[in-house]
Amino acid sequence: MRVVVIGAGVGGLALAAGLVERGIEVEVHERGQRLRTGGAGLGLYPNGVAALSELGVAVEDLGRPIDVLERRDTKGRVTLGIDVARISEHFGFIARTVPRRALLDRLHHRLPEGVLHLDRECVGVRLHADGTSSVVFSDGTRSTGDVVVGADGAGSVVRTQLLDEAPPEMGRWASWQGLSTLDSPRASGRVASLTQGRQGTCGIMPAGNGLVQWWFDVRWRRGLPVTEEPASVLRELFASWSDPDVRAVLEQAESSEINFFPHLNTRVRGSWGQDNTTLLGDAAHTFPPATAQGANQALEDAWALVTALSDSGARADPAWALRRYEEVRHRPAAVASFTSSLNGVQRIRLPRLPIRGMRDLPGDTATRWFGGYLSAVSNVLTGQRP
Ligand SMILES: Cc1cc2nc3c(=O)[nH]c(=O)nc-3n(C[C@H](O)[C@H](O)[C@H](O)COP(=O)(O)OP(=O)(O)OC[C@H]3O[C@@H](n4cnc5c(N)ncnc54)[C@H](O)[C@@H]3O)c2cc1C
Repeated sequence: MRVVVIGAGVGGLALAAGLVERGIEVEVHERGQRLRTGGAGLGLYPNGVAALSELGVAVEDLGRPIDVLERRDTKGRVTLGIDVARISEHFGFIARTVPRRALLDRLHHRLPEGVLHLDRECVGVRLHADGTSSVVFSDGTRSTGDVVVGADGAGSVVRTQLLDEAPPEMGRWASWQGLSTLDSPRASGRVASLTQGRQGTCGIMPAGNGLVQWWFDVRWRRGLPVTEEPASVLRELFASWSDPDVRAVLEQAESSEINFFPHLNTRVRGSWGQDNTTLLGDAAHTFPPATAQGANQALEDAWALVTALSDSGARADPAWALRRYEEVRHRPAAVASFTSSLNGVQRIRLPRLPIRGMRDLPGDTATRWFGGYLSAVSNVLTGQRP
């Protein structure tokens, strides 16, 4: 069986690594001239780490483990704490923040020479009567496979064509995101924080080697010009915040290291392809980064698709294996998408409990909620195989 993958992001490369591991022939076509270097870091939760482990990819030496996730007010007071270490221990896989580039390099190194093809932009997919499909590239060349997977991200050309759908719309929020060294004890800690206020949200996660991944979620609407001086715009917008860690990020941020990401949303459809074609990752389910599940869901997809294609029946009937993959992934991906799209769960103000001295939810309830959420969005942690 020959699998043709479009897109060498987290999802496409993880899929290829898993297929290589199982001895299935695969080629990956990426439109970029090199692997993506921007995009800061990724919070990998136990489901993403478990999927990688099943695909034969260890990440224990990358980035920095996260033990606690705090929600704070603008003065830096902790209003809610999630015991991530306990959740990691429960599932047996440690949550961590990793620089995106380090994860892409790790996945790329799992691939033999000749699997990854750069500077190859897919412009269309053709389904053939003999059950194969061809990918058409912008230079007019084609590549034919028994299975074609669109792992081409949020603006997926493959999705637009297979599902006959317009590209996703921008939402009402956007993130300014960076990964930089931070002269602060936070950089060497294991605490991730989300500081909330009227102006938006600031997330800070240590990512190893003195690096910190940080982002500001701000209100946005289509058509607004994107500033070339985001550092000064953010310093002005969040000037009234006194959370010392947010202040440190704002003071040290440089415009050249900040990237802009409008939040996008696509409906998670029941079927992700036709015949022997399917989608994976953001191409199948783009949603706002509120619960940091996008890449984790792409890794879950990769694990489920490798599992489905490894079945002895897949060789004779690849389309059957693809529909089983879509069926098992649909619900968890839809839950992750729905939860992350509630205008950003970190922006929802939970009602204060009417108990003197107790603010918001008790930490244990939040920890249990978050553990339950991870189970609900995961196949790999709950043993649901296609
Ligand atoms: C600000 C922000 C913060 C985030 N933080 C987290 C986090 O902490 N944890 C988490 O799990 N997720 C996070 N995400 C989500 C995560 O980045 C995505 O869900 C994830 O990258 C999806 O992986 P993918 O492989 O599906 O797509 P991508 O990573 O987008 O890769 C798609 C690849 O396809 C290539 N491509 C596109 N079109 C074509 C074409 N026509 N032909 C050939 N190649 C093509 C692209 O160049 C790219 O390399 C965040 C997202 C944002 C915006």
